Amino acid sequence: MTRWKDNRKQYQREWRAKNPNYYKEFWQKNLEHNRERARINATRWVKNNPEKARQVRQKCYYKDIDKSRELLRKRFHILRKNLMKLLGCAKCNHCHISDYEILHFDHINGGGSKEIKLRGNTSMYYYYLRNPELAKKTLQVLCANCNAKKRHTNQEIFKKDVNSR
Ligand SMILES: [Zn+2]
Repeated sequence: MTRWKDNRKQYQREWRAKNPNYYKEFWQKNLEHNRERARINATRWVKNNPEKARQVRQKCYYKDIDKSRELLRKRFHILRKNLMKLLGCAKCNHCHISDYEILHFDHINGGGSKEIKLRGNTSMYYYYLRNPELAKKTLQVLCANCNAKKRHTNQEIFKKDVNSR
């Protein structure tokens, strides 16, 4: 690093120490805009440094593993509820039972297990929340019973070419 750069950094550091509240106020003045910009920058950084980002994520995750798991669980249920809201309501499409715990997302034309294998459960929810029109075409809410019945009558198990959409 050249000398003038060193000098400038030193100067900036001193200036910041003298005016500790300047950046805080600067940030607060245009909060929404700054947050949005920070978000964009962070996304770009993650895209450019995938390996480092993974390390940071892991470090955060293992710092307090119980809390992380709890957060993941909460996020999972929020996504699930949002997706149900998107598809109409939290009710079975056939028998209209509304027990949250036994409701499943069913792929109308089959191919669900294949897609879960490909994307993973949570990212599949994200995918369909980002593409609501596709979600309405592809998914429906079914209870465990109706889902099993549908699978049986459509012979979706052991079918070779289920993913034909
Ligand atoms: Zn049902």
